[in-house]
Amino acid sequence: MNCENCGAPIGPGQIRCTKCGSRIAANVPPSPAVQPSSAQAPPPIPPAIPPYAPQGPVMMVPAVRTTAPGATASLVFGLLALFCCGALGGIIAIVLGAGANRKIAQNPALYDGGGAATTGIILGIIAIIINAIWLIACLATGQWYFVNNL
Ligand SMILES: [Zn+2]
Repeated sequence: MNCENCGAPIGPGQIRCTKCGSRIAANVPPSPAVQPSSAQAPPPIPPAIPPYAPQGPVMMVPAVRTTAPGATASLVFGLLALFCCGALGGIIAIVLGAGANRKIAQNPALYDGGGAATTGIILGIIAIIINAIWLIACLATGQWYFVNNL
């Protein structure tokens, strides 16, 4: 580069022209008072996290879900086991309910009925427990009580 005033060649970092003595604006460092070296620019503010879209399209897609196969049957067998069919109905209710819950877990957008399936499983377990208590009571006393099962 050259001096703006006289055109003499100016070396890099040279503040004043050696020929005419005029200041070389491009090479004059900024005043230390204006920009102290210790001061640093404030860290950039991270962009605000975009808020989660409420009721996003993911929740809107499954407009119609079908009850998972076995969910209703599990509930029916659970009720039957509880009131008449005993442990066998309870086992069926648990198997059907577990299968329905597995289908729901694999494809929650397609199937619902998890409440019925879980209720069926619980009823089946209760029925089996009742039968076990009943069986133990019969074995303990040596008599067969025909209460509500068998
Ligand atoms: Zn000059």
